[in-house]
Amino acid sequence: MDMPEVPACLIAAAEIHKIVRRLGVEITACYRHCPRELVVIGLLKGAFIFMADLVRQIDLPLVIDFLGVSSYGDTALSSGEIHLTMDLATDISGRDVLLVEDIVDTGVTVETVRRLLAQRQPRSLKVCAFLSKPECRRVDAQVDFIGREIENAFVVGYGLDYAQSFRHLPFVGKIGLSGKK
Ligand code: 5GP
Repeated sequence: MDMPEVPACLIAAAEIHKIVRRLGVEITACYRHCPRELVVIGLLKGAFIFMADLVRQIDLPLVIDFLGVSSYGDTALSSGEIHLTMDLATDISGRDVLLVEDIVDTGVTVETVRRLLAQRQPRSLKVCAFLSKPECRRVDAQVDFIGREIENAFVVGYGLDYAQSFRHLPFVGKIGLSGKK
């Protein structure tokens, strides 16, 4: 697999910071009357950096957990299949749960995971995505908080990878890939 060159910046670090701060304010307002700590669940691996920044912008008692999900393998093509690679350590029944996703593309991943978590009978369940590509939606996914909508492009950085690389970039960049849907 050829590694693309370092991507051109699409969303700079300063803009990311503003987006995350705004989401933190919205989420704080939404959950301010929660009876217990909010349970914030990040989808690994892509959401790990966004999740770390987001929880520091939520001004409420909260606990965190992670779900391991793999959808694309090591390619940029969606197989449409979701594999759970790591389950929660937290019992979410009766809890207020916020599922945190890096990017919603077809919507299959987030909606599949949301339904899986809903079966565990949380008190409430909402979804926050850093990025969304509305043009690419194939299922009617519930996303309650969206950082920013982007065009149909393959993006990396700020946790997002191409073949496991580029996750560490402090900005979101766009790479040109042939064969991407
Ligand atoms: P969906 O199931 O919504 O089609 O895809 C969601 C998952 O696919 C995301 O969690 C992410 O891992 C991956 N994905 C979708 N679009 C992109 C993209 O533009 N860049 C990267 N790096 N991953 C993406």
